[in-house]
Amino acid sequence: MTAPHVVVIGSANTDMVVKVPRIPAPGETVLGGRFVMAAGGKGANQAVAAARLGARVTFVGRLGRDMFGQQTEENLRREAIDTSFLVWDAAAPSGIALIMVSADGENSIAVAPGANGELTPADVDCAEPAIASANVVLLQLEVPLAAVERAVELAARHRVRTILNPAPAAPVPDELLRHIDLLTPNEHEARLLSGIDASAKAGAEAAARALMGRGVGALAITLGHRGALVAEGGKVEMVPSFPVTPVDTTGAGDAFNGALAVVWGQGRPLVEAVRYANAAAALATTVMGAQPSMPTAEKVAAFLSDR
Ligand code: ADP
Repeated sequence: MTAPHVVVIGSANTDMVVKVPRIPAPGETVLGGRFVMAAGGKGANQAVAAARLGARVTFVGRLGRDMFGQQTEENLRREAIDTSFLVWDAAAPSGIALIMVSADGENSIAVAPGANGELTPADVDCAEPAIASANVVLLQLEVPLAAVERAVELAARHRVRTILNPAPAAPVPDELLRHIDLLTPNEHEARLLSGIDASAKAGAEAAARALMGRGVGALAITLGHRGALVAEGGKVEMVPSFPVTPVDTTGAGDAFNGALAVVWGQGRPLVEAVRYANAAAALATTVMGAQPSMPTAEKVAAFLSDR
């Protein structure tokens, strides 16, 4: 099977992480452990996931003209991701997340979206040649909605399938939902979009049906360690996850979406793509960090062959 072309249009951040004995109170200073910097942002994470799983990936996003932007581009290139449609912002800094992790595992995070927040419909227009040749366009909500809307418009024009991972949770206009081929909310995002508590299977099914009623083509609602609920046509089906011992679930959703784009982008049935995405996401929970935890195609194949 030839490698699918996945175009990811979204965010890239640099995560700056310090482990602290406890999250400092306002005005307080605490001494932390070693400082760690890692590439992040849902768009870049999902692009890396898809690339490691064998897709040809183009990443479209906006970076600041600073050392973080340069490092982000180098990192994407190291993953063999096409960066020719990156846009360099002359004014805004690159996106940054300042993360404190306490000894008992609590997080405190401040995100400065910077250039991610400046991605325009015109930037997306520049990437039309990539979109036109893609098998699937993969989107999230960490860049302005207007850019996401333009990406969906261009994908429709070129008859390219779209996946919207509606994260972080935010309202999405019906006009956009109607043009999404595959929507991949987690249970919180599904509740925000549908108004229905999607934490139990019956609720997730009702949420999926409600969103299909608003025009979404198909859904895969991720339900953490339980796996994902797939809704397509008139059918709803639970695709169970794979039992693993998670060490860090950061990036599980990003691994799921990247993997889903690769397999569904090849034209495989949705349930098969979701099973593969569950495997990739389960593996991602067994390694610390987001991008470092994205598994390779070989690793997923070996994992699945044992099951
Ligand atoms: P998010 O990380 O975006 O909140 P979820 O928590 O729903 O999303 O996780 C996304 C996917 O990751 C799940 O559908 C599942 O395939 C996988 N996953 C998450 N947690 C676990 C776990 N504890 N064990 C196995 N797979 C998991």
